[in-house]
Amino acid sequence: MNRYISWERRTLPVHRLLVRTLAAGTLFVLVLAGCARTTEPVVVDDLLLGTYVRIAVHGGTTERPLLDAAMDRVAEVERKMSVSTADYEETELLRVNRAAGQEPIPVSEETLEVVKAALAYSEATGGAFNVAVEPLVSLWGIGTDDERVPSELEIEATLPLVDYSAVVVDGDAGSLYLPEEGMGLDVGGIAKGYAADEAAAILRDGGVTSALLDFGGNILVIGEKPDGSAWRVGIQRPDAERAAYLGILSIRDATVVTSGPYERFFVQDEVRYHHILDSQTGFPAAAGLEQVTIVAERSIDADALSTACFVLGLGRATELIEARPGVEAIFVDTEGRVFLTSGIGTDFELTDANYTLSD
Ligand code: AMP
Ligand code: MG
Repeated sequence: MNRYISWERRTLPVHRLLVRTLAAGTLFVLVLAGCARTTEPVVVDDLLLGTYVRIAVHGGTTERPLLDAAMDRVAEVERKMSVSTADYEETELLRVNRAAGQEPIPVSEETLEVVKAALAYSEATGGAFNVAVEPLVSLWGIGTDDERVPSELEIEATLPLVDYSAVVVDGDAGSLYLPEEGMGLDVGGIAKGYAADEAAAILRDGGVTSALLDFGGNILVIGEKPDGSAWRVGIQRPDAERAAYLGILSIRDATVVTSGPYERFFVQDEVRYHHILDSQTGFPAAAGLEQVTIVAERSIDADALSTACFVLGLGRATELIEARPGVEAIFVDTEGRVFLTSGIGTDFELTDANYTLSD
């Protein structure tokens, strides 16, 4: 197969989304091209989940309907789980959030599954990852037309609503219930990972043996490159324009997910306010890290963990990752020091002399 197909399959207000996506700077991982490429991949791309999603199949089945089916899954996840009122009048989670303090809302099996996973991560991280963060996300409005620094009073009034432990999951009824008016769920920190896993499962089941899925920098690779070498993923420098990377990760059948304050933020009075919120303080997390990259088997895990680690800071984040077999991390602190978890070995190579490896 020697062809290159790229087409647009969008249904959303494209220009607004595109502008927002690019301004958000979510493309932070570069995929380094190999020199010995024998075939071009078959590619589909779209703007989904608030970012640019690209699926490139390099080996095995390369039929377009299969790629379309994978992308359709991503769109389906968005249609069910987005809480962006700019993009949707109605989704399952918007319904749940609007019924807060009133009644349980039945949702699809997969929305229930994602919320349950998000709740499990909320518990496992002591609320560093907090699926009930929606009222704070709305209050700050970061990345929307309404972004602003709220008053202390507003933050104080909002914090009690950010209570993941109050979320009621009824597995038998398949419903979600938020007991207080004003509560809300936001799976923005985990849904991209889930969608990538789902898309990859469709491709694998359909016979794809080599592929690269890029969800605005959340990378998932199937197999290895067609020439038998590992995929090489450049980790973006957190302080620089997108094209610059600080190091290279070599991976096979794995996912790499990065979280950082530079992905979505605004500046007011020379202070940067970014999109990962600490539900203890109500403010953007400031735990001394500038970037967290997680390497794992499943993207849903990597996604939730990258957000959580960013909030936790180096010490507690290291403990969290070291306790999980098969999960590794690269942390960059605000001083430009790079820390690796113990199992990463030679898979990561630091290439930028402005950064230093620390123990
Ligand atoms: P990520 O880019 O995966 O780190 O996720 C950031 C997104 O997750 C934000 O844009 C919010 O939608 C949501 N979010 C923000 N703060 C938190 C938090 N503390 N826990 C869980 N999700 C969060
Ligand atoms: Mg995340």
